[in-house]
Amino acid sequence: MVEENSNNTPIDFIRAIVKDDLKNGRFNGKVVTRFPPEPNGYLHIGHAKAICIDFGIAAENNGVTHLRMDDTNPTKEDIEYVESIKNDVKWLGFSWHDKLFFASDYYEQLYRFAVELIKIGKAYVCDLTPEEVKEYRGTLTEPGRESPFRNRSVEENLDLFARMRAGEFPDGSKTLRAKIDMASPNIHMRDPAIYRIRREHHYRTDDKWCIYPMYDFAHCLSDSIEGITHSICTLEFEIHRPLYDWFIDQLKLESHPKQIEFARLNLTNTVMSKRKLLELVKNNYVNGWDDPRMPTLCGMRRRGYTPEAIRTFVESTGITKNNAIFDLALLEHYLRDDLNKRALRAMAVLNPLKVVITNFTEDKVEELDAVNNPEDADAGTRKVFFTRELYIERDDFMEDPPNKFYRLAPGREVRLRYGYFIKCENVVKDAEGNVVELHCTYDPATRGGTSPDGRKVKGTIHWVSATEGATAEIRLYDHLFIEENPAESDRELKDSINPDSLKIVTGIIEKSLLEAKPGMLFQFERIGYFCCDPDSTPERLVFNRSVTLKDSWSKIQKKGQ
Ligand code: ATP
Ligand code: MG
Repeated sequence: MVEENSNNTPIDFIRAIVKDDLKNGRFNGKVVTRFPPEPNGYLHIGHAKAICIDFGIAAENNGVTHLRMDDTNPTKEDIEYVESIKNDVKWLGFSWHDKLFFASDYYEQLYRFAVELIKIGKAYVCDLTPEEVKEYRGTLTEPGRESPFRNRSVEENLDLFARMRAGEFPDGSKTLRAKIDMASPNIHMRDPAIYRIRREHHYRTDDKWCIYPMYDFAHCLSDSIEGITHSICTLEFEIHRPLYDWFIDQLKLESHPKQIEFARLNLTNTVMSKRKLLELVKNNYVNGWDDPRMPTLCGMRRRGYTPEAIRTFVESTGITKNNAIFDLALLEHYLRDDLNKRALRAMAVLNPLKVVITNFTEDKVEELDAVNNPEDADAGTRKVFFTRELYIERDDFMEDPPNKFYRLAPGREVRLRYGYFIKCENVVKDAEGNVVELHCTYDPATRGGTSPDGRKVKGTIHWVSATEGATAEIRLYDHLFIEENPAESDRELKDSINPDSLKIVTGIIEKSLLEAKPGMLFQFERIGYFCCDPDSTPERLVFNRSVTLKDSWSKIQKKGQ
């Protein structure tokens, strides 16, 4: 029988392992996981997957999750990133309580572990240059060669390592290496470096250290120090696992975490490597880490993504060992699903065409009731203002319409949302023949959208009063990259960027939207979901399009059924 979660989906392989360990009393019935980002960039949606797994599995088993900054690379880390990581994890809806740790707090302990390895003859100071190390390492098909410094005595190694720490040697002139097996088929086991000399300022330890532990050494030992039971990570670390086990076994550490690997989350038309994201930011190809086109959590938040939508999407992608690229349309599908429930409706016209209601009194303002959210009765209603001059969407009028065009055309009648039926009586054009204005009449008997004489209209369009509305900056986003998988493209990153990924227009918004505050979410009826941007000022509101209304994913699914 396949075990199932509470929502009747089959349990994933990581949850099955944890469950098994609990049943067998492994780790004294405890579950302690960690999310270990390196603070060298902002978190992205791939990290959200790791966060949901780490925090989710621990919480389901009455366990705890540590948030640990894996900060062992002094050149790239920064406190700005630490703060953003904390902020984003909280925003996603998870809490580490008081379990915030830093690998840099373990530097002294890690140094002692390295000394211990030297003492048991399992580490040595090596003077090979980086090029020589590479040459000695061998290849996937050929074994490596032993370093001529491999058989230094324990005393000599202890002395040299202490002097490395004391700053007696230039950067890069020596490394401390684990003494394992230069013939191992696993290249990571061929005497990997565990300490290197680098006179770099560290954002937390300042200039206290001039030697820094390598990631592979620091990461697994930090897990052990913290008593992590299940060290869940992505597949690329599978091949490092024997090395992690080796360190912990050699040092005879009591706490030996079980490492479990899963496939990374990848998305189409996106890059997810922090190095590439940093490149986008540094070169101003985007407007910062929180540019709404970025796959970063802060960018997605600014775009109007909710934590719920992201978590639901991440869950839908499952946990497997197969690398796959998920379609952005799937992520957008979950966003629409969530915003449909929570976003207040409003009317805005993005490509305006003026309409004059010739039989409506000049200067008169009529209040009409509009529903705030048909999905949520508690959201109530608001007033929209009907006046002689209005704007409608240019696309909602055609002078010479094809058969199935049910919107406005000369002599045709259409329903204005929450308002009246209007009929196009006259089309006003400029000297070049462009339509600049429509003259229409309205039928006062159709208030609320139905006609007492039973007359039907097929189309309902949105509109905004020209005199009771306001203008706003509307930012329309599309995929940041043209190609499905820019990471595998031959082109330079900058040449893969979609030149139409951001279009800015001035839209006409209904009056109620003047109350919008940054972060507030709306559905502009018939157009899409929008989020009020922090760039907004009292003089000029700015809205980001979160996602259009069209759901290509639902369609794909339906076709497939
Ligand atoms: P990059 O390779 O872009 O620099 P990273 O994996 O090195 O990213 P870390 O800060 O080390 O970034 O990541 C913290 C944790 O998040 C790691 O455990 C990593 O496995 C996980 N993670 C990173 N990217 C993804 C992804 N795309 N899908 C799932 N988990 C991810
Ligand atoms: Mg990493």
